[in-house]
Amino acid sequence: MYHDLPRSASIWSFLLAVDEDLAAETRKQGCPCGGRLHSANFLRKPRGTPIQLPEHQRLRLSFCCDRDGCRKRATPPSVRFLGPKVYLAAIVILVSAMRQGPSSRRVSELSKRFGADESTIARWQTFWREHFPQTPFWKVARAGFVTLGEIVSLPYSLVDAFLGRYPPSEGWMFLLRFLSPITVPGGLQIKVSQ
Ligand SMILES: [Zn+2]
Repeated sequence: MYHDLPRSASIWSFLLAVDEDLAAETRKQGCPCGGRLHSANFLRKPRGTPIQLPEHQRLRLSFCCDRDGCRKRATPPSVRFLGPKVYLAAIVILVSAMRQGPSSRRVSELSKRFGADESTIARWQTFWREHFPQTPFWKVARAGFVTLGEIVSLPYSLVDAFLGRYPPSEGWMFLLRFLSPITVPGGLQIKVSQ
């Protein structure tokens, strides 16, 4: 099992660089109204990070349309932030995965180590068990995922598939990139019509 997040500062800078690429794609597309997108980043305060992240790495990259009467916000996918959750996506994934698998960890131990309280960890588990499998993203992605490995439980099977076949930094990169479509507003939307 995988017990930690990469501690080197370079992986976190690298994830930011990936977010910048994703943001550039969003910006190029512009607003559906035809307006241009201007930077309108917002500062997040992620908790439980293995290293102290400098301020520019805590920014959620985002844009606003420059046309009067529209001014719509456009938020690109992210490999760092999972929807509105305070904790970094990697932590939400890792802690939940560590509750599962052959050598599962106790909630109290994880809580102490990552600074998330027990009810927060319980909410993350509910998210992976009940909400994530119902997302339009997973319904499509699941088919492609079957070739990577057997799905025993989420997110353990995801972590196992990606970190089991790549070196840690690369594994995290691929996993976070894989999940990035669910990080945009509406990306976690649950389809009730099927
Ligand atoms: Zn617009």
